[in-house]
Amino acid sequence: MRNVLLTSFALLASAQAGAVDTTSVAPGVDLIPGTFVPGRQPDGNSLIFRTADGLVVFDSGRHAEHTQRILDYARDAKLPIKAVINSHWHLDHVGGNPRIRAAYPEVRVYASVAIDEAMGGFLANYRKQLTEAIAQDTDEKTTQAYRDEIAIIDTGRALYPDEVIDKSSTRHIAGRAFGVHLQTHAVTAGDVWIYDPATRTLAAGDLVTLPVPLFDTACPARWKSALADLERVPFTTLVPGHGAPMPCAQFGIYHRAYANLLDCAASSKDKSACIDGWIANAEPLLIHANPGFVRTLAGYYIDNVLRGPKAKIDKLCNANT
Ligand SMILES: [Zn+2]
Repeated sequence: MRNVLLTSFALLASAQAGAVDTTSVAPGVDLIPGTFVPGRQPDGNSLIFRTADGLVVFDSGRHAEHTQRILDYARDAKLPIKAVINSHWHLDHVGGNPRIRAAYPEVRVYASVAIDEAMGGFLANYRKQLTEAIAQDTDEKTTQAYRDEIAIIDTGRALYPDEVIDKSSTRHIAGRAFGVHLQTHAVTAGDVWIYDPATRTLAAGDLVTLPVPLFDTACPARWKSALADLERVPFTTLVPGHGAPMPCAQFGIYHRAYANLLDCAASSKDKSACIDGWIANAEPLLIHANPGFVRTLAGYYIDNVLRGPKAKIDKLCNANT
């Protein structure tokens, strides 16, 4: 079977379309929303903080067009990009790093080291599957998209951090104090989320994703515990990795819906009942979602991850690292 990340994100890409303009989240904090174009892989949300020294960018997107919007923002603001913080190593969050480095050679990239293991495992496998897919597919647009994915992976260390986040702490980045937090073995082996106390903005990365949690490389139980950590933060606005910014009450809905989905998947209930439960519990967050797509994607993750091979989950949940 084709790589799950490729498969599920392709589903995601085919079901949601359209670009959204830059959105103000708080004074001096702007969102460049991730976009979904039919037949293409997505871009994660990018959040930009204006600091005393310049710009701090949380997640750099995947496609050139998305990252160009970040560069255009910096040009219009007449401020340099001083730092990039990557929430995790998925290509829709780190893929723009090389372009930002090219435009701002002094930029410092902050992330966990989890990409190193991914390069030798998940991303190496994904690259192999892309190469095979190119050999089998005759559609030029599709194969170009696959080649673009390979090109991102092949930028190698340009995707890696300069500053490793190996624990949770307050960090002064570009003249601003951020709460920088590391959660191990949740969405990936190393997930970073940040809290800006000055604006009470929490950037969650893919610890919060809509229209469903994206479990491709996840340890579901530890992800649940990370959501409990987020709920204790006194934020005004939480920016998810995919989806619209949400106030505290909406995040509570997400958190409970997530927990109920795990409970249902662990029970003997029918898959359809678990899907219905997710849709009912998360309903206020799904008003713009395609119902058929939500069902397909939720069902995919129940079958392949939540009720999938236990050995795979155990490996992703490795508590020793
Ligand atoms: Zn993502």
